[in-house]
Amino acid sequence: MIMNGYPDLADRIFLTQLNIWNSIQANNSTNATDINQNWATDPQSLQACLMALNPPPGGTWNIHMDTILDDVMFYILFWMNRNNYPVPVLINGGGHWVVIVQYETDVEPIAGSTPTLNEITIYDPEPHNIGSVINIQAANWYANEWANSIIYPGTWQNNWVAVIEPPIEKGRVKVKMVERVGEKIIPPEKAIEYAKIWIEKRRLDKKNPYKILQRKGIIALNPILVREQSKGKKVTDFYIVPFAPKLTSQKCFKRYLLFFRWVVGLDPDLHLWTFIPHNDLLPPVDVTVKRVLKRVGVFDREYGCKWADVLRYSDFLKLVSPQNKLWADLYLSRLGIMGICNSKKIDSKCDICPFQRFCAY
Ligand code: SF4
Repeated sequence: MIMNGYPDLADRIFLTQLNIWNSIQANNSTNATDINQNWATDPQSLQACLMALNPPPGGTWNIHMDTILDDVMFYILFWMNRNNYPVPVLINGGGHWVVIVQYETDVEPIAGSTPTLNEITIYDPEPHNIGSVINIQAANWYANEWANSIIYPGTWQNNWVAVIEPPIEKGRVKVKMVERVGEKIIPPEKAIEYAKIWIEKRRLDKKNPYKILQRKGIIALNPILVREQSKGKKVTDFYIVPFAPKLTSQKCFKRYLLFFRWVVGLDPDLHLWTFIPHNDLLPPVDVTVKRVLKRVGVFDREYGCKWADVLRYSDFLKLVSPQNKLWADLYLSRLGIMGICNSKKIDSKCDICPFQRFCAY
């Protein structure tokens, strides 16, 4: 999609997936810290593939990496503005490539400028064999796709990475934050009060699917302001008021946390609710996760599950994978799901367990 999007029509070329795949594989990084990382998205292989199959005439593709994401974004904008080439960037902590094909800034991103990024347009190869074009507000891009630097150990870890034609100029961009427009915003307590009146008036708790509201211990959580009263317009505040079971220290709330993981978490989760930062989520804990964690010394009890266990597990995951807690949980939880670690040692497949050398069981 990059080589078929070169600015000059004469340079555009369509290559088969097989050609591209073979070239990527032939150019994988051979650096000792990169091999064996199972990199499907190795930046060196993408850069070398672009150069090997269809280098831009007189130009060159280069990997640009930096621990300051605004600097990487400036390089991207500067060279897109000057040369009009699309720019492949790694997102989701290094797990996926997309191509930036368009952007909107307040000033032209030229040398010495400090442009504010308003939005960008990306081409995403997913869904597989279909692809999608997506416009993203800058604040959302930074909070989601680019929330994390590369999490994989090796050459690019902790950097943001783009392959640019060609990166030289230094600079930095600013992110446009959401503007508040409301004048007399309804306080959240009032929003909860209105929601309760509405439920009572409409007798919602007697109807499906709201009958859950009748259950003991269901409380209103912090209302989410999704639209503000606008100056001069007949638009009122609009809140979503979530209701959920009251947290008690004696429960793990695994199903709720699992649900949030599916709708908020990055790939392979669905990442639909992009307004919630994925690293704020707490990990679901169950007896199989606790079993492994007890055996490797994180917990002191194997059975039972309390809220304190969730918090403790979350802290542990933060140490293992600060940029993406749930990524580490994905691997840890597999041991129970795949039947590797079982309650009896004799039933466990310790010979293939990656934690064998830490396990005291
Ligand atoms: S070594 Fe065996 S008992 Fe220990 S965590 Fe792994 S599978 Fe479980």
